[in-house]
Amino acid sequence: MYHSLPKEITNLVEQFSRFPGIGEKTALRFVLFLLGKDENYIDALAGQIENIKNLSLCQKCHNITASSSRAEDTGSFCKYCADPARDKGTVCVISSLPELMAIEATGDFLGLYHILGGKIDPLRKTGPEHLRINTLIARIKNDNVREVILAMNSDIPGENTILYLTRILKPLNIPLRQGFEGHVKISRLARGLPMGSELEYADPITLSSALEGRQEL
Ligand SMILES: [Zn+2]
Repeated sequence: MYHSLPKEITNLVEQFSRFPGIGEKTALRFVLFLLGKDENYIDALAGQIENIKNLSLCQKCHNITASSSRAEDTGSFCKYCADPARDKGTVCVISSLPELMAIEATGDFLGLYHILGGKIDPLRKTGPEHLRINTLIARIKNDNVREVILAMNSDIPGENTILYLTRILKPLNIPLRQGFEGHVKISRLARGLPMGSELEYADPITLSSALEGRQEL
């Protein structure tokens, strides 16, 4: 269908078609949009895409972190992990960045995050070995963590992930450090979120009460 077009166009159509939710027709509309723009716009866009290479992942929570934060002597930690005002004893485990943004939007969570990088979903061939679980266990053992909150979507992959992490973390019975009695608490959000709902689209008030009413596992 696009064979008659110059390869400058078909190559870009192919690239845009790889974006989530974008088909060939929309991809072609993007390219036609770009063709209508002047050189300055194209240069700025190309530069912004190029700048993505400067981003890296926080070595603690795997959040995206800008290279500029490294210049501020925060190591390769993200702004949350580098913030002395955040409670390092509470770690909220999420599957991806949009959930971090949703929880931050509540303004009620002052702990740190751990981004797993996905959910256990056999249909998408994602198993526990694809998730950042080892670094989570290392953090819990070494960072004076008191509570781990499993904040997952209430869909089947979310439930699978909660079940798996509970089975892995609970038997570890990791003792609290610094002279505190007891063990690291594992909890999940209150079941206030509708079944199948996605955390990233939950309104801040619902999410905030799900966080507050979290239940120990
Ligand atoms: Zn971080």
